[in-house]
Amino acid sequence: MDFDLFNYDKYIVSFSGGKDSTALLLFLIDNGIDKSKIELWHQEIDGRGENFFDWEVTPDYCKKLAEAFGVSVFFQWKDGGFKREMLRCNERTAKIFYECPDNTIHSVGGEKGKCSTRLKFPQPSPNLNVRWCSSYLKIDVCAAAIRNQERFNGIRTLVLSGERGEESKQRAGYAILEPDKSDLRNGKKIMRYVDRYRPIRDWTERRIWDLLEKYRVRPHPCYFMGFGRCSCKFCIFGNANQFASAACISHQNFSQLVQFEKEFGYTLKRDTDLSTLIKKGVPYHDITPELARLATSYQYNSDIFIPYSQQWELPAGAFKKCGGPM
Ligand code: SF4
Repeated sequence: MDFDLFNYDKYIVSFSGGKDSTALLLFLIDNGIDKSKIELWHQEIDGRGENFFDWEVTPDYCKKLAEAFGVSVFFQWKDGGFKREMLRCNERTAKIFYECPDNTIHSVGGEKGKCSTRLKFPQPSPNLNVRWCSSYLKIDVCAAAIRNQERFNGIRTLVLSGERGEESKQRAGYAILEPDKSDLRNGKKIMRYVDRYRPIRDWTERRIWDLLEKYRVRPHPCYFMGFGRCSCKFCIFGNANQFASAACISHQNFSQLVQFEKEFGYTLKRDTDLSTLIKKGVPYHDITPELARLATSYQYNSDIFIPYSQQWELPAGAFKKCGGPM
């Protein structure tokens, strides 16, 4: 495919709040892309329901970071998020909500289709049919929000996502550029040109941190506590140390997960239950009450930029081997 980074009307950064998606934003800014064309899109895993699976602070961290860089941010979510989808029992999958530039919130779905039962955790597998958290709570939500906003019709949109080949063999094989799921470039009635771009697929983690240092970005608090990835707090790919750390920070949520393992008769991990898993792990030494409070707060009340009076330092989680994606 011929590719010209400048030949798009809109740039959507698929933004988790982690280092890789932050690097995507910085990559666009470094290349001189007009900030008024850039939007950060964050899919809220807990769907604005009660907190269950993700870091409480992540949405506000995303919002504050967007404000600090002077770019727009929009949130999308499946009603009830992870918990509602996991507990689906002879029901349709829930509606998707998405924010629009005129400050309205719209919804789509939830009214047609077959009723079915899930009552299972997502499985840590490359297959998105069983790893339903990625598809139902992120990929489909993002695609639906593009498809259902007329503002994307008749223009060229580039969706940037931050998968890196260093993280897994599967990711190393992803295309750097391909038509996005929401693309309709050959549509008869509507033309919607949407490319998916993975510019950092071949970047090293060193290069990512160097870019954050160049812009003096203070990473998400989870990295300072020792987490190597800013994924869901209880990401299904987490290893024993990650789960032991998350359990010591959010004990109540962890107890709920243990209870659901008993109720479902299925464990979250293939080969062990969560109570056994955390006994094999050690919580990260860098977890402090202040950092835990910040990560589990709904307000991010720290700086986005490290002031020049302080040294920018790698967080404890940098280069840490942890349970990663497939
Ligand atoms: S971060 Fe982990 S648990 Fe969360 S959606 Fe992605 S794969 Fe699923």
